[in-house]
Amino acid sequence: MFLAFHRLAAPAFLLSLMVLLFLAVPGRGAPAAPSPTPLETMVNGRPVTDEGRAVMVNGVVFMPLYVLAEQLHFSLSWLEETRTVRIEVFGKAIYLPLGSKVGLVDGRSFKLTEPAQSISGRTVVPLRFLSDILDFEVSYSSAKRRVEIRAPEYAVTDVRYALIDGRPQVLIEGNRPPSATATLKRDPLRLVVDLPAARLAIPDGVLPTGDPLVREVAWKQERRDTVRLTVTLGREMPYVLTPADHRLSVVFPPQVRAAELVIDGGRRLLVVRSTAPLQPKVYRLPDPDRLVLDLPGAALAAPSRIPLSDSWVYGLRLGQLDPQTVRVVADLEGPLAWAEEPAAPGEVQEQEATLKLHLLNRVIQVTHQTFKDRTRLRLKLAVAATPTVLVDRRAGRLELDLPEAVSEGLAVEVPVGDGTVERLRLLEAGPGTVRWGVDLPYYVGHQVLPGEGAEAVVEVSRSPVYRKLIFLDPGHGGADPGATGSSGLMEKELNLDLALRLRQLLVEAGAEVALSRESDVFVPLYERPRAANSLGAAAFLSIHANANPKNYESGTETYYHPDRPGSRELALEVQKKLVEALKLLDRSARPTRDFVVVREATMPAVLAEVAFLSNAAEEKLLADPVFRQKAAAALAEGIMSYFRNRSEPSAAGTPGEEGAAGAKPPPTLP
Ligand SMILES: [Zn+2]
Repeated sequence: MFLAFHRLAAPAFLLSLMVLLFLAVPGRGAPAAPSPTPLETMVNGRPVTDEGRAVMVNGVVFMPLYVLAEQLHFSLSWLEETRTVRIEVFGKAIYLPLGSKVGLVDGRSFKLTEPAQSISGRTVVPLRFLSDILDFEVSYSSAKRRVEIRAPEYAVTDVRYALIDGRPQVLIEGNRPPSATATLKRDPLRLVVDLPAARLAIPDGVLPTGDPLVREVAWKQERRDTVRLTVTLGREMPYVLTPADHRLSVVFPPQVRAAELVIDGGRRLLVVRSTAPLQPKVYRLPDPDRLVLDLPGAALAAPSRIPLSDSWVYGLRLGQLDPQTVRVVADLEGPLAWAEEPAAPGEVQEQEATLKLHLLNRVIQVTHQTFKDRTRLRLKLAVAATPTVLVDRRAGRLELDLPEAVSEGLAVEVPVGDGTVERLRLLEAGPGTVRWGVDLPYYVGHQVLPGEGAEAVVEVSRSPVYRKLIFLDPGHGGADPGATGSSGLMEKELNLDLALRLRQLLVEAGAEVALSRESDVFVPLYERPRAANSLGAAAFLSIHANANPKNYESGTETYYHPDRPGSRELALEVQKKLVEALKLLDRSARPTRDFVVVREATMPAVLAEVAFLSNAAEEKLLADPVFRQKAAAALAEGIMSYFRNRSEPSAAGTPGEEGAAGAKPPPTLP
């Protein structure tokens, strides 16, 4: 509102208004005669000449308004519709309809002795109006034919600086709302506020504020009737003059004081501190990646450039984009996302506002690639990150967690179906954690690899026994207990328990498993390989424990028939894994033509003697479920290792195999 006042008081406008008041008001309502008599006129002790002088008509003294407007800093406007003069002065708005004795002051009506009117092309008001409504001192001497007008004195009683609602303000206190003009000047940069028709009721003074932008306020009686305030500024910025009651406030914009990157337990917050809450416009720019915050209606306390050694953000820059806008730029290592973080209730402080942007990694693309022995899953990210991988055997899937991330605009399901990975599914899209589920037909292993640049790579191992039929033969059973240990542990029970444990592991690895027996029943010896042959099993494993009258004999051995292709290789792998896992004496893989089961089976077939039941120490081990589980795992490893070697004699660990014959081109998602 005061801006308008301020603008209206500009000389160019006044000039046009004067023209308006001279020319636009026609003679209607003006008395026909007699001609007005000019009077000697003094305004605030200064003589007024020519057409600006007061006039007497029919014994009533009238004063032209424009003279007052010019000399006393009135604001005048003309409302054509209602043929009304509007006067703004001392915080009052006054309406004077031409030719009417009723006017309005701040919404209340008042009576004039004579109406405002046009005389000789000038809009005039009766002298009494000035004293009755505006508290001017007026006097008329009929003897001297002289009019004196003196505006009521405005006294400055205090000058203060304050931060109110986060906005720096210079407060000028006085006995009524003053008129004022403000001018921005340079060298040094300062705002000069002149209060006309004013007197300083306090000594001249200087007030340092400690504010980096509104640095100092000085005041003095500039001329006899003008008080001047000089506000030294740190930068050019908008200002507003606001009169209220007995005060004039010079109001400056809220200030941006600082910006910083706060890292809190992996969370990265871009924090902008200001004196009042601001409404930012946030956007990302590419090449190089930047996050830009434009803060309109704010002034920057000090431009700065802050280098950072963070892996996401390598610098912050603060600048004043234009007199109205502060710009904060975060230099990013990649095209990160962000989410505005609401301030916690306890954090809100007087005269301090914090704007927080939570920075987030982005999953930009998901691709997969199939190799002979594994499937590679690649997540293209905004910045490099290592996913946490959880194996959920019950749900048959892996869960890849990327903390502090979002997944925007990606398909929620990616079919793979290559026998190692069924599909990827987006389980959580953030903000916070992005979780991709990897549905598996089985699980045998995975690896998290360092990606190239901003990516996360997880490789899921392909099972070498996927959909292969493995025949397990727990030795003995029913009436045939096999060997019995000194404490009474029977071989038939041990063999069956090991076989069932092994079946579980092989099924988890994607194999199909058949057993010669699943309970304590007698199965004739020849029936065992025959069952395996008729099923077309890919491998045959007979499980036994050893016995020897020499009860000090100990260790692990594996038998195979020397004429059966693949049997020796299978025996070597099984023996090797058993010895590695159980750490018993290595009695080696041994060829034999005497064992029916390995001789009669037509597929690679072995018979493992895990340990000696006749050895008291080893019997004790064989009774231990932990040892048994270890033995079963070693047997599973031996079988898988055999098939892995057989299917890919040259592939394991060979570099540069990406794009090999078995690899599908990576499907790409948006
Ligand atoms: Zn046996």
